Amino acid sequence: MVKKITVLKGDGIGPEIVNEALKVLDKIGEKYGHSFEYTYVDIGGCSIDKHGVPITDEGMALCKSADSVLLGAVGGPKWDNCPPAIRPEKALLAVRKELGLFANLRPTKLFKQLADASPLKQSIVGNGIDLLIVRELTGGVYFGKRTTEEVNGELVATDIMPYSEHEIERIGRIAFETAMKRGKKLASVDKANVLDTSRLWRKTMHRLAEEYPEVEYSDILVDNTAMQLIKNPTQFDVLVTENMFGDILSDEASMLTGSIGMMPSASLSSGSLGMYEPIHGSAPDIAGMNIANPIGTILSAAMMLRYSFNMAAEADAIENAVNAVLDAGYRTGDIMQEGCTKVSCSEMGDLVVSNI
Ligand code: NAD
Repeated sequence: MVKKITVLKGDGIGPEIVNEALKVLDKIGEKYGHSFEYTYVDIGGCSIDKHGVPITDEGMALCKSADSVLLGAVGGPKWDNCPPAIRPEKALLAVRKELGLFANLRPTKLFKQLADASPLKQSIVGNGIDLLIVRELTGGVYFGKRTTEEVNGELVATDIMPYSEHEIERIGRIAFETAMKRGKKLASVDKANVLDTSRLWRKTMHRLAEEYPEVEYSDILVDNTAMQLIKNPTQFDVLVTENMFGDILSDEASMLTGSIGMMPSASLSSGSLGMYEPIHGSAPDIAGMNIANPIGTILSAAMMLRYSFNMAAEADAIENAVNAVLDAGYRTGDIMQEGCTKVSCSEMGDLVVSNI
């Protein structure tokens, strides 16, 4: 099978970590008889330097016409003072919008080999945490109307949080379908005791739940979810929530693993096109040193195979290889433990390849 992938390496450690993911994809292609064709597009600071904008129209068109998009990270101190309209992050928002990426999937997995890295006690993390947050990405308060105006001699700021039924239904469907592929357990996070948007959210989710009788469904309030993620994170399989709640909870959840360099993510549209990227930023403090952890990006490539290309066995092969490398005691600096062997970014990529 031939698949066209638009590759956005970006800034900082972006090129280093993406190169390792491409090595892994090439190995998968060789082993399973697929051909992955890469088209490279500048994004973020490097694009501002070359083209004056964080992504060009041609670059955007190449993202839209691809089968999938792989991203490293964008940004860095060099571009911190760019005018808001051409900041590196603008390109990410633009790609999400243009590609209709309304669903963000963020797995939180605490690998048993790295249990010591979790800030939680062993008695709480048990045999490891394995949950997935499905966050609505293009609606809610981040996209609603906002105003700041003077009323009675003082400034009043307002942010509107709109959600329509179709927006809730399409993210709900992704969550139920994803739960069917995992542990068949879904918790929908809202604030239905206060917000109208949450009441509509809950009503829509209940309607969908009837279509998925195999999924064990529950509602949970967002404040309770924030507590439960710390108190008993292993109770969760899939969580679905709106944009702002998901933004906050997914960062909280990722910290349960204590290792930002390990975490992948996927942003999906209603078709098979998706954008896959590690959750961390461009890490300018370690850029160009070949010491970054490429596993978050490699696991993002595995998510691409699973969710955009329907290649479950190939995705499993990558995830198993990562596990094997960790089992064998190899670690990049960010996850280094006593008694383990420290490896560079490119050595980690080579080790994953050799375990496929
Ligand atoms: P960061 O995630 O880049 O780095 C935070 C810390 O984690 C740093 O100490 C870094 O060295 C470390 N780290 C991150 N990824 C690592 C990896 N793979 N291996 C080892 N260590 C790793 O966050 P930041 O420092 O707040 O942001 C740096 C830049 O990245 C900023 O310009 C920010 O705007 C941008 N950013 C981009 C994205 C994105 O492209 N999606 C996301 C977040 C931040």
